[in-house]
Amino acid sequence: MSEPILQMNGINRTYGQGKNSLTILDDAELSIDRGELVALVAPSGAGKSTLLHLAGLLERPDAGSLTIGGVECSKLNDDKRTRMRRLDIGFVYQFHHLLPELDARENIALPQLIAGSNKQQADASADKLLSHLGIAKRATHRPSQLSGGEQQRVAIARAVVNKPKVLLADEPTGNLDPSTSDLVFDALTDLVRSTGLAALIATHNHALAAQMDRTVTIEDGKIVPLS
Ligand code: ADP
Repeated sequence: MSEPILQMNGINRTYGQGKNSLTILDDAELSIDRGELVALVAPSGAGKSTLLHLAGLLERPDAGSLTIGGVECSKLNDDKRTRMRRLDIGFVYQFHHLLPELDARENIALPQLIAGSNKQQADASADKLLSHLGIAKRATHRPSQLSGGEQQRVAIARAVVNKPKVLLADEPTGNLDPSTSDLVFDALTDLVRSTGLAALIATHNHALAAQMDRTVTIEDGKIVPLS
């Protein structure tokens, strides 16, 4: 049975005011189920980052409802949104943004420590993910000692270590060669399916998009299936 995790209804987002205003999302609707991977493919400037920022609680919509795991987020205060962002949402970017002075295990364990786990628990969670992603032998390597694909797998592990409900990714394999990109994407897909995350992944790569459950685009401010 389908179980919506991320739900956006009647979302409006307009930048600026008056005659210079720019409406990016206009009564936009999107629902992503548990374990579902949705590709977001749209030309530059269409509003992909805006949509990811809204879903990631980094921006507020001007109107509409946004729920994560049934919790209405648009009415929450900033502290509660920050907490939700930390615990319920994982982000993966095109560039890994790992901390250079920490090794792979420490980078992955950090969000767990921030969330209140002790070091032993955090290291155990990190090691489990390192194994799951096939990079257990790289645990004590710093980002500069890892390949691009390994760095990105560490970034994915860091994004999911707190067991978020939603995973948001912006061109997660955009910086990798095609075969590494396939490898990293397979790891990402596997994690989403096995953990029941709801994933929204912006990409320009149509071959990757075709491997997801469905593809949406942004047209005239609406989120519509890409045919
Ligand atoms: P994409 O990620 O698809 O390239 P964006 O969501 O970054 O698109 O941007 C959509 C449109 O909104 C662009 O025309 C951009 O210039 C505009 N825009 C984005 N952020 C702002 C902002 N803070 N203020 C004004 N305009 C913005």
